[in-house]
Amino acid sequence: MAYDSNNIFAKILRGEIPCKKLYEDDFALSFYDISPQAPVHVLVIPKGPYENQNDFAAHASEAEMVGFMRALGKVAEMAKLTEGGYRAIANCGLNGGQEVPHYHVHLVGGGKLGRMVERD
Ligand code: AMP
Repeated sequence: MAYDSNNIFAKILRGEIPCKKLYEDDFALSFYDISPQAPVHVLVIPKGPYENQNDFAAHASEAEMVGFMRALGKVAEMAKLTEGGYRAIANCGLNGGQEVPHYHVHLVGGGKLGRMVERD
């Protein structure tokens, strides 16, 4: 499936709609989730047009991959998640419950989290 450049995170990257930004560099943007599911809930997205984690793994350059992974680490530190621990989640496709078709990783924590996987 082709990348949909009208998805909401693409609009945030282009500055067309606002976000509560936590971090930005050449490879990644991080902002607070609009509907937090934990005391701390931030999103990290790559700047390139990748639909999901598989698309990113197959097509991103090595520099983009390293940059994105480093950004995940920096954001976890900045959000004060590393000491108490946290969870990194990348929902992928229909079964994964992905709503926004631009690759993103949720970092959630700030308190003890529930079970890892729930099924409908
Ligand atoms: P997913 O289900 O993995 O695609 O997650 C998409 C996430 O994006 C959800 O947790 C939403 O709450 C969040 N979200 C949607 N729109 C915005 C927005 N404008 N700013 C911040 N987070 C958003």
